[in-house]
Amino acid sequence: MPGVLTASIDAKKSIGLKLYEPLVVIMDDNPYTILGVTKDATDAEIKRVYRKLARQYHPDRNPNDAAAEEKFKSIQSAYDKIGTKDSRKEYDNRDRMNDMFGNGSPFSGFGGGFSGGVDIGDMFSQFVGGRGRTQSSVNQNRERKNSSNDEIKKGSDIESALDISLEDAVKGADIKFNHRRLKICKKCKGTTFGTTKGCSECNALGITTRESTITVKVPPGAVQGQQLRLKRMGNEHPKGEPGDLIINIRLDAEEGRRWENGRLIQEAPISYSTLILGGKIQIRTPSNKRIQIDIPANSKIGDRRRLNGHGHDGGPLDIEFTIKEPEKLTKEQIQALKKLKETGL
Ligand SMILES: [Zn+2]
Repeated sequence: MPGVLTASIDAKKSIGLKLYEPLVVIMDDNPYTILGVTKDATDAEIKRVYRKLARQYHPDRNPNDAAAEEKFKSIQSAYDKIGTKDSRKEYDNRDRMNDMFGNGSPFSGFGGGFSGGVDIGDMFSQFVGGRGRTQSSVNQNRERKNSSNDEIKKGSDIESALDISLEDAVKGADIKFNHRRLKICKKCKGTTFGTTKGCSECNALGITTRESTITVKVPPGAVQGQQLRLKRMGNEHPKGEPGDLIINIRLDAEEGRRWENGRLIQEAPISYSTLILGGKIQIRTPSNKRIQIDIPANSKIGDRRRLNGHGHDGGPLDIEFTIKEPEKLTKEQIQALKKLKETGL
């Protein structure tokens, strides 16, 4: 319809819109958004979601489709950012830094950098951690108070995540945890910090990065997003107190389930005919109980229904309706579908 097209161009001209101006597309490159998972998803959940999406958008399945190819690429690059424990930790750390200091900060590229065995990202957060907090407008009074007194020297807190199974969360568990933090230099005992004296071990920083395996006691009845604070297990300070280690508990919801703002969502695959006509389906709850639920007629994909007492540790379980994708259709089903098609459905 060329007439319509001309009219719309004229309309744009008349309100002063420049035509042929290149479109500015704001790309959301947040890997969590691209993969459609929440920030508190476990590593296992991210892997499951990635595999599913990669299968769906794989070029072999969508030959010569530019849109699918683009989607596939963005899924790949999102997974590169948060697909492994290490890469995810690095991404999350950098993200936290950007939140604190903004993207344009001269430090925004520092996350994960190494220099002489000392992690600059950790170093940086150690020495400015306290200042970053007190600079916020809420705490300005405190900052004024602090600056008149001697500043209390303290190593920064370390925030980390621990993935555990639902079962371990209910019963409680001792989980081994690989912990990396700044500790007082073994050689100079931190005495070279702030001096011009050299130390071959720490470069006169008084601290070095060291790794150890610690055992974290997860209390029985742990919930998604729960924080455990391990006092004095954060970064040490050469002239002060160590910070704390803060561990965010992430529960692996297992296949077909996910967490959303602390709520457990379970997908219930339903055949299209049941979704439209109504019926009954059976689901298996997280505590491995088989229960039957009613599907009302004219239900839609994405509809939810809350089952109290069937979620994690006796909490609520939200069932989300999804479509059951048939593996392979029988001849009968294809015949029936053809008839349906003739009716216009
Ligand atoms: Zn030293």
